[in-house]
Amino acid sequence: MKERLLKIKDALNPVTEVLGKTLGGNYRDTLRGDFGGALREAFAETLREDFTETLREDFSETLSEGLSETLIGDVCGTLSETQARQFEKYYELLVQKNEVMNLTAITEFDEVLIKHFLDSCEAAPLLHENASLIDVGTGAGFPGIPLKIVRPDVKVCLLDALAKRIDFLKEVVEALSLEGVDCLHGRAEDFAGNGSSPKLRESFDYAVSRAVAQLSVLAEYCLPFVKVGGFFIAYKSGDIEEELAGAAHALEVLGGKVSEVKRFSLPNGDERSLVLIQKISETPAAYPRRAGKPTKKPL
Ligand code: SAM
Repeated sequence: MKERLLKIKDALNPVTEVLGKTLGGNYRDTLRGDFGGALREAFAETLREDFTETLREDFSETLSEGLSETLIGDVCGTLSETQARQFEKYYELLVQKNEVMNLTAITEFDEVLIKHFLDSCEAAPLLHENASLIDVGTGAGFPGIPLKIVRPDVKVCLLDALAKRIDFLKEVVEALSLEGVDCLHGRAEDFAGNGSSPKLRESFDYAVSRAVAQLSVLAEYCLPFVKVGGFFIAYKSGDIEEELAGAAHALEVLGGKVSEVKRFSLPNGDERSLVLIQKISETPAAYPRRAGKPTKKPL
């Protein structure tokens, strides 16, 4: 009997030791640590999942509603599921890449939606079917990518002087499965010249540009790309009258004529304009001048 009791005691020894240590020692701390850790993890998981789901649902809804309400006429109408998803993916890629390179100062969802997406889409109803368009100084893809999403029939060329931005745009084009988009790295002055390769001079129905330069400089970048009869559409904010007056000489020299200024307000109250400049005659061979000259010495 004594032997059996001794055996049981031996067997229980390690257990009592552990129990003793745990209970007598830092029981509370261990429990708190483990409990807290597990709880935090569970919370994080739940929150992450909920957040992503909510974001996705809200995003698509707001986007479809916002865009269809704001866009002029019913050229784009309500966004299809595919288009809403493309905007969603674009937002994700933009915010993600913005962590490692400078693409945009705006990252809050609502702001991106209004100030980048909606603003960019304003020219969509103005473009004729199956048109060709070049976005000069597209940066992170504005207005070119949103225009392509809502007007998939339009062939788009995205041009920018910064290689990293063009690399990002190639990723976007692939991730969004956009067809008929060229991403070109280089300066407008080099691609719009007479000897340029590829031959892009006077080959587009439209040139668009946003937040790149003042109108007189922009006209020298953009008008050489446009076919006679086509349009250069400048996205502008601020005092447009002054800019128009300052660009009168440049437009005359380059073969452009202001046909209309479309003013609009974004849902947050920001005032914007689209300046529609028609190409009425060929741009003289001397323009654009060599890279850097249009900004240093505007026409
Ligand atoms: N359009 C975009 C937007 O609205 O967010 C980007 C605007 S960002 C302020 C100006 C962009 O124009 C930059 O990405 C810059 O590299 C590009 N850029 C400036 N001058 C250029 C030129 N001569 N040719 C091509 N790209 C140019």
